[in-house]
Amino acid sequence: MSAELRSNFLRTQIQDDLDAGRVSAVVTRFPPEPNGFLHIGHAKSITVNFGLAQQFGGQCHLRFDDTNPEKESQEFIDSIQEDVRWLGYEWHGEVRYASAYFEQLYHWALHLIDQGVAYVCDLSPEEARAHRGTLTEPGQDSPYRARSVSENRDLFVRMRAGEFSDGERVLRAKIDMASPNINLRDPILYRIRHADHHQTGNEWRIYPTYDFAHGQEDAIEGITHSICTLEFEDHRPLYDWLIANLPVPHQPRQIEFARLNTSYTVTSKRKLKQLVDEAIVEGWDDPRMPTISGLRRRGYPAAAIRHFCEEVGTSRSDGIVDVAMLESAVRDELNRHAPRAMCVMRPLRLILTNLTEPLELQVPNHPADPSFGHRELILTRELLIDAEDFREDANKHFKRLVIGKRVRLRGGLVIEAESCDKDGDGRIQCVYAQCVTSVPGEDPEDGVKPKGVIHWVSADHAVPATIRQYDRLFAVPDPGKSEDLGAVLNENSLTTNASAMIEPGLANAAPEAVFQFEREGYFVADRYEHQSQRPVFNMTIGLRDTWSDPNG
Ligand code: ATP
Ligand code: MG
Repeated sequence: MSAELRSNFLRTQIQDDLDAGRVSAVVTRFPPEPNGFLHIGHAKSITVNFGLAQQFGGQCHLRFDDTNPEKESQEFIDSIQEDVRWLGYEWHGEVRYASAYFEQLYHWALHLIDQGVAYVCDLSPEEARAHRGTLTEPGQDSPYRARSVSENRDLFVRMRAGEFSDGERVLRAKIDMASPNINLRDPILYRIRHADHHQTGNEWRIYPTYDFAHGQEDAIEGITHSICTLEFEDHRPLYDWLIANLPVPHQPRQIEFARLNTSYTVTSKRKLKQLVDEAIVEGWDDPRMPTISGLRRRGYPAAAIRHFCEEVGTSRSDGIVDVAMLESAVRDELNRHAPRAMCVMRPLRLILTNLTEPLELQVPNHPADPSFGHRELILTRELLIDAEDFREDANKHFKRLVIGKRVRLRGGLVIEAESCDKDGDGRIQCVYAQCVTSVPGEDPEDGVKPKGVIHWVSADHAVPATIRQYDRLFAVPDPGKSEDLGAVLNENSLTTNASAMIEPGLANAAPEAVFQFEREGYFVADRYEHQSQRPVFNMTIGLRDTWSDPNG
């Protein structure tokens, strides 16, 4: 195990199992239900399951837990595979499907019937609820609990054959209606559903429940550690009961850990779907979505997401992680790996009055890492700078361009502002400045140093671009608590700037390439819409955290 990985109870547990010889090789699985796009919480589960397999030299399977045909689709199956790979993981062998085990599960259900520990129950859902009891009161036996093995067999075979309608009957395990654990009060194993399935078509008219399917799937695949989230803790006795009562080829073990929740984020699939269906966002991969495909489109590097998932740790206590931690992991990664470039968001013309010839500049692509190389930029007589980088006059805290004061143009000369033109409303139209140095990087001979550095593009060479500035989708730390998502939205989560000007090389950026736009933040060439003739960049994240910074 690599030294940078902190110990956690899962790693300790697995190491103990290996040391004690309880398992010889680690096999885990990531078992999404294909009923939505994966989100940041799933990224945690992916890094846990694939990560543990990697750390212990084992295997991790990708298995679609596709036991609910109505809500599932091929679109989700495809996106999930793409997201897992993009996060940097490859599953062992073929993609697996719970539905591929339906025949085996059916035979195991018959086995339970034959052993006298499963029965067909005809109670209506309301009657079953009334029989179930409560947390403080035991349940009551179903009147169908005493059915004979042969009658149960006959009815179950006919359930499969499609003879009964949805909800008319179920198959239940016969465990203990008085158990303090409600999951053991004769849980449902199979339901009748006349629904076609994306993998098995119309072959099945009965579908296993999660509880009946999951552990048995684990056993079929030889999973050693079936890692899931805490809400399944109370299901573990049932998981173990089924494994103990069936002739399964392996004895998997379920271990639970706490879900990852981040502030300012919703991760319920129902709510994410609502955001998409109500067109609050533009789709599952809208850059404001906490989906893996949304974070990707936003320019979040996979390595930053993996790093964040490791940083937050793995424990058994629920909590909410500040989303600023994720954002900070993104900044750290991009600060090291994103080349620098210049984009002027609110262009203002700047004329260099004494520049007679264009000047070719070699500008480093990264201030700290020479391996990024240089790019050539041409300093021309007419430039564009950001309107906010100029004032006619200002106090000494304004470290940008002011008439009679100096700044350095990034990668270029030191200039001193002379005058400006204004329109009839007093709005500044154009600034005039003279170059006070002639060699890039040098300081002025008179010893009067520039106040700061500003970015620029050449008015002759710059390319117009659409820049989408993103911010957190929600204005409150706990949007999941609100039933009305519309009421807790951040109204400024998207601002589109169609008048930005970028340095020419950026137009040729590959889709998904991320840059630091000097002094502005990190921006990614949109995966789908960016073209050299029509550049489109999405803001990944600002240079600093403006949510927790009081001066932000
Ligand atoms: P559903 O309510 O549809 O079951 P789910 O979020 O549990 O939603 P699954 O597709 O069943 O979705 O999840 C696949 C795996 O990812 C499961 O093992 C689940 O425990 C895990 N997982 C889901 N959300 C989180 C989360 N926030 N943190 C950690 N693991 C998660
Ligand atoms: Mg689930």
